[in-house]
Amino acid sequence: MKKFEYFKPRTLEEALTLFTKHGEKAKWIAGGTDIIVMIKQKTMAPEVLISLQGIPGLGQIKFNGSLSIGPMVTHRMIEMSELIKKDFSALADAVGWLGSIQIRNVATIGGNICTAAPSADTATPLLVFGTQIKIIGPKEKSTIPIEKFFKGPGETVLRTGELIKELIIPKPLPNTGSAYYKLQRRLALDLPILGVSVLISLDKNKVSCSDMLCTTSPISSILHKMEEDQIVCKEVRIALGVAAPTPIRAIKAEALLRGKNLSDELLEEAAETAVKEAQPRDSIRGEAWYRRDMIKVLVKRMVMKSIERVIQPEETVFPERLW
Ligand SMILES: Cc1cc2nc3c(=O)[nH]c(=O)nc-3n(C[C@H](O)[C@H](O)[C@H](O)COP(=O)(O)OP(=O)(O)OC[C@H]3O[C@@H](n4cnc5c(N)ncnc54)[C@H](O)[C@@H]3O)c2cc1C
Repeated sequence: MKKFEYFKPRTLEEALTLFTKHGEKAKWIAGGTDIIVMIKQKTMAPEVLISLQGIPGLGQIKFNGSLSIGPMVTHRMIEMSELIKKDFSALADAVGWLGSIQIRNVATIGGNICTAAPSADTATPLLVFGTQIKIIGPKEKSTIPIEKFFKGPGETVLRTGELIKELIIPKPLPNTGSAYYKLQRRLALDLPILGVSVLISLDKNKVSCSDMLCTTSPISSILHKMEEDQIVCKEVRIALGVAAPTPIRAIKAEALLRGKNLSDELLEEAAETAVKEAQPRDSIRGEAWYRRDMIKVLVKRMVMKSIERVIQPEETVFPERLW
């Protein structure tokens, strides 16, 4: 492994000054679970690593009207957060599937999205929650929607010396449910063949939650209510991972569902539209045709799962195998 200098600054200002001094030779390091692997594999050769570990305030989860997640928050911290399990279930699903507990204890959410792998498990939940990313650099600060953050596989809009300072997630509307499904060959330590996140907000006046808690399965109960035009979609977001060079929103599929009475046929049409919006490729983990087929299956399932989580929120407790 190539030798590098290692710095552990104690303040953000110190970190930014250090980066300015070393410029292109430097890289940030958070948990190190991606960057150290890349250095060992010789796909990256920084001469200087600047750690974000010692900087106060970057590793907190806070809620003050909106959810604030520091870039140094580990996946395990997210997994253990009751608030995230309850109101941001798709993100809890995603971290519950990420790596192993050992990896989740050190790997961070900031590192996961900065690596910008199309397979990053937290990317699609962050997309459906409308996450805003606060960036700080030696010269300026900015806040951008996550849709504008990814430029290509391994590429983001971050310029030399810039870092993610905070992720801000607006509080979802009332009667919102969300879910993420990671399609993988085995149930542990595997990257996704496909990742699908859905967030749905139902029209409060139309959905009668109490009488949906019937003895039949939640899915058949939801289908029954759909037939009676009782499930109205106020807002919906659908995001796909490993389905294009970057994680994407399926905007046209969302538009088909938004403001409509949901039906099985409409969900089928939306899922087919999501397939057309994707640009999957053949890779070692799966072929494009299989990814397309599974987008269709999983978009529908994640919409149903999200609706189920609106009507039976007590069932959302993680860990949960969705299917
Ligand atoms: C065994 C194993 C299993 C894994 N399984 C999964 C999996 O199932 N799903 C998955 O999505 N990933 C998986 N990963 C990948 C990895 O663990 C995650 O991407 C992790 O979240 C990276 O976070 P980190 O803190 O370790 O980042 P680091 O390795 O420290 O950094 C990654 C990159 O982000 C940059 N960076 C970090 N923080 C910031 C910041 N705040 N601002 C700007 N740039 C920053 C670094 O410079 C570096 O380029 C796995 C890795 C291993 C080794």
